[in-house]
Amino acid sequence: MTDRRGANGSAVVHGYPHLDTARAAITALYRRLSDEGIHQYDTSVAPADVAFADHDDLHLGVQRVARALVQQLHLPDARMIVSFREMEHAASVELTAGPEYFIELNDRFRTHRRDIGAALAHEITHVLLHRLGLSFPGTRDNEILTDTVTTYLGAGWLLLDAFREDRDSSQKLGYLTPEEFGYVLAKRAMVFNEDPGIWFTSPQGYTAYTKGKAQAVRDEQQPPLTTAGWSGRHRYAKDRRYALDHPGGSGSGSGDAGRAYGFERLADGLRVSFACPTCFQRIRVPVRGRVRARCQLCHTVLDCDT
Ligand SMILES: [Zn+2]
Ligand SMILES: [Zn+2]
Repeated sequence: MTDRRGANGSAVVHGYPHLDTARAAITALYRRLSDEGIHQYDTSVAPADVAFADHDDLHLGVQRVARALVQQLHLPDARMIVSFREMEHAASVELTAGPEYFIELNDRFRTHRRDIGAALAHEITHVLLHRLGLSFPGTRDNEILTDTVTTYLGAGWLLLDAFREDRDSSQKLGYLTPEEFGYVLAKRAMVFNEDPGIWFTSPQGYTAYTKGKAQAVRDEQQPPLTTAGWSGRHRYAKDRRYALDHPGGSGSGSGDAGRAYGFERLADGLRVSFACPTCFQRIRVPVRGRVRARCQLCHTVLDCDT
């Protein structure tokens, strides 16, 4: 896992450069675990279970935190053997057949214990994904998958809480930006009715969470959902008129890649397709006014005005 530390503002990327990949990771996770499987992860790891004070015994503390995260990620028979060494990255894990897995943590965590839980959460999620046989091609996308799954399954708020900036320095763990961690965390919170805001010790982590949450709420307010705002509905009505007037045209629509809708003409009329705001699976419904759709993948029920 990457470890970005440095002078304030010099090292940390902000915004949503990996949003499409994070959304694809959520879809892939629903496909692999199913809606029922994901609902087994209905509680997040509690702050007390991963708290690690600098006066705690280093090796006993690491074992305790690793066990809490192994439980959180539902890997009951996996054992994490954790050691420290000097390295460029924050941490790494050797992906073997198990049940023992070897994790190395950067030496700096010996004296910086509060973020050991964050580092272990990411590495232990690598083990989970390895066992599930779930991966994305390319290191960058695979790491984004890992951060997204860590967060969606209730252990990733630790990574966002490890993001800290003060006047002189900054630290951020993982590959998602702080706002993207906030976004995925809010996506999870909406499904499980959680309030992650209360877990943060880092003011910067909390701020990033509120920004990501606003972005996640916007997903729920896109046409053709009935919750869409006036300007979205106006744009949708225009696009629909265009699709009706141009029978030969295909795929007209607008919005960013994860939220775009498009129209398709079939023998029995027009259909609109759009991404499920929960899992991003494409949903197709006939264009005929009020329609209630149920996502086939995550089973969210969506009220649409098509
Ligand atoms: Zn990694
Ligand atoms: Zn869905």
